Amino acid sequence: MFLVRLVYVSTFSKDFQSQDIEAILNVSRENNLKKYVTGMLCFNRKYFLQCIEGTRQNVNETYNRIVTDPRHHNLIILDYKEIAVREFSDWSMGYIPESKLTNDININFGGTSVFSPYDMSGESAFMMMLALKSTVPAL
Ligand code: FAD
Repeated sequence: MFLVRLVYVSTFSKDFQSQDIEAILNVSRENNLKKYVTGMLCFNRKYFLQCIEGTRQNVNETYNRIVTDPRHHNLIILDYKEIAVREFSDWSMGYIPESKLTNDININFGGTSVFSPYDMSGESAFMMMLALKSTVPAL
C-alpha cells in the first residue's frame, strides 16, 4: 500500500456557521485517526484549503465523503500525487486559522497579500502548509 497526498480548495456555503469548524475538526480527527489519514486544514471564513495524506484507498474514501458535504462547495483539486513519506504525520487534522495566513505568508506563496487558494498552484499550497506546520499543535 503506497501513500498519496491530495490538496484541494473549496468555498464555504452560506449556511455554514463559524462553530461548524469545530465540529468538522472533531469528526475529521476521529475518522482520520482510524484510517491513518493525516493532514492540515486552512480556513479564512471564506475558503477552505485542505491537504490529506494516507493510503490511496483511504484518501480517496475520505475525499469522496468530503466532496458531498453541503457545508462547502466548488471543490477544486489542486494536486494529487504519490508520495514516499508523510509530511503531516503528527496531525490527524491540523488546523491553520485565518490569523496564521498573514500578508507575508500570502505574498510568499501566492500572488497577493490576500489568501486566494483558487489562484495557487498545488505545489505552492502544499509548501505554504508545510511552512506553517511548526505553528500548529500536534493532534
Ligand atoms: P454523517 O455525519 O452521517 O453525515 C451525513 C451527511 O451529512 C454527509 O454528507 C455530511 O457531509 C453531512 N453533514 C454532516 N454534518 C453536517 C452539518 N452539521 N451540516 C450539514 N451537513 C452535515 N471528514 C473526515 O472524515 N476527514 C476529513 O479530513 C474531513 N475534512 C473535512 C473538511 C471540510 C472543509 C469539510 C466541510 C468537511 C470535512 N469532513 C472530513 C467531514 C465530512 O465531510 C463528513 O461530514 C464526515 O466525514 C462524516 O461523514 P459521514 O457521511 O460518515 O457522516
